[in-house]
Amino acid sequence: MSKVVILGAGIAGHTAAQIVKRKLGRKHEVIVISPNTKYQWIPSNIWVGIGQMTAKNVTFELAPVYKKLGIDYKQAKATALFPEGDTDISRPYVAIEYTGHYKLGQTDKIEYDFLINATGPKLNFGATEGLGPEGYSESVCTYLHAGHAWEKLQLSLDKMAKGEKQRFLIGTGHPTATCQGAAFEYALNVAFEINKRKLNDMAEITWITNEYEVGDFGMGGAFIKKGGYVTSTRIFSESILSEYGIKWIKRAGITKLEQGKAHYQTLDGEIHVQDFDFAMLIPAFAGVGIKAFAKDGAEITSDLFAPSGFMKVDADYKPKEFEDWSVADWPSVYQNPKYDNIFAAGIAFAPPHAISKPMTNKNGLAIFPTPPRTGMPSGIMGKVVALNVAERIKTGSKEMKHKASMGKMGAACIISSGYGLRDGMAATMTVFPVVPDYEKFPQWGRDLSYTMGEPGLAGHWIKLVLHFMFIYKAKALPFWWLIPE
Ligand SMILES: Cc1cc2nc3c(=O)[nH]c(=O)nc-3n(C[C@H](O)[C@H](O)[C@H](O)COP(=O)(O)OP(=O)(O)OC[C@H]3O[C@@H](n4cnc5c(N)ncnc54)[C@H](O)[C@@H]3O)c2cc1C
Repeated sequence: MSKVVILGAGIAGHTAAQIVKRKLGRKHEVIVISPNTKYQWIPSNIWVGIGQMTAKNVTFELAPVYKKLGIDYKQAKATALFPEGDTDISRPYVAIEYTGHYKLGQTDKIEYDFLINATGPKLNFGATEGLGPEGYSESVCTYLHAGHAWEKLQLSLDKMAKGEKQRFLIGTGHPTATCQGAAFEYALNVAFEINKRKLNDMAEITWITNEYEVGDFGMGGAFIKKGGYVTSTRIFSESILSEYGIKWIKRAGITKLEQGKAHYQTLDGEIHVQDFDFAMLIPAFAGVGIKAFAKDGAEITSDLFAPSGFMKVDADYKPKEFEDWSVADWPSVYQNPKYDNIFAAGIAFAPPHAISKPMTNKNGLAIFPTPPRTGMPSGIMGKVVALNVAERIKTGSKEMKHKASMGKMGAACIISSGYGLRDGMAATMTVFPVVPDYEKFPQWGRDLSYTMGEPGLAGHWIKLVLHFMFIYKAKALPFWWLIPE
């Protein structure tokens, strides 16, 4: 019997757990370790943040689903890896700390044959002074944050209804933050809610971003087919912002927040302050801080993890000039190079480099987006890792047949605003591949047959359908495996 341990029950980890268990059946053990009792469908947090959904709509309890699937679930967080065991335990194990109230703070050692690290990001609010719900800005990165954002947003809406002007600042809260798509979508939704209440004259909405051009989205922007012609994601995104009456500040790195004030530097080295009444700003992401130790107790964290805290996998991490970056640098099986029974999927894996060109201003501040690892690629990585692990257990072959490089996969991004069947609008964008491949597609870096953008109500319906479909799948309801990642 083999034992597969999965760290994290988000899009990557939960997908991996469902698939590996389905492939392995009862003969093998699958354990999920995750600190929260609930699964959350993060993309719909946007709707929680504008009061159109509640936490209940975007979450469900994990334990009953895992019980049904025959997966052992421990409400705990991983703290350290011992990939060779230690002087007492000869097998690899992961040290955990329970987070549920009945064992709170107790520790344990969970042995494994295969480990899938899908711990996502640490929301690193601490990297920007004053950022986050405990500081002066809101977040929509968790359903709790999004609920808090909605409480604060209502205060601003009430003030506007009483004739008091409000300034909204939405975007990236750190000079190298990623996840621009989510913040962009939230900005459009806030604008939509304001417009719905006919309060436009009372609001000033500003999109603030570390992107060199609006529409970069951490993937170096893209040329997309729209209708019959080719345009850039910059034009596409700027048109949408203009249509929603949103101003923008680009090439901006927020360095500090105070009550109602965001301090930022631009790429040309200027220092500015932007005043706000309501701010939703995405923090920097880091790895969750798991350490690693050799059998003799020596710390080997840097063998397994990059300095960012994300796990090293089969990528080319050699430092290279931007001009020498290649799509081949990106990993395809998400396997740790030192320990071939350890994998990392979703945001937990360390990208070899950014996709957008790194830029630093004259004050030495790096201002550019780090690469996104959005939901669709995260789910696909979870699936590919699960299939390879299951096949290796069943056949003994070390061949990794299933591959999913971000340089060979596409991603769809639906930036929707409003809620309901008639009351919404969306900008739907697909890119293929996520990491541009200039060897295969010399002109645009991407295949324009699959790199497209369209505004319209249809994309909004798709977003709604995806919400229900992915929650159905994550709940492992009948025939869940037929729904793609
Ligand atoms: C508001 C918002 C909207 C978004 N919208 C979209 C969208 O429309 N489309 C899209 O494709 N992407 C979207 N994304 C991105 C998408 O949500 C992420 O790409 C995806 O959640 C990443 O999946 P993951 O499994 O890597 O990480 P997560 O989903 O964050 O899961 C990480 C898991 O690890 C657990 N964990 C953390 N620490 C530990 C530890 N020490 N030990 C064990 N477990 C741990 C966490 O509790 C969690 O269960 C959005 C993101 C945000 C914030």
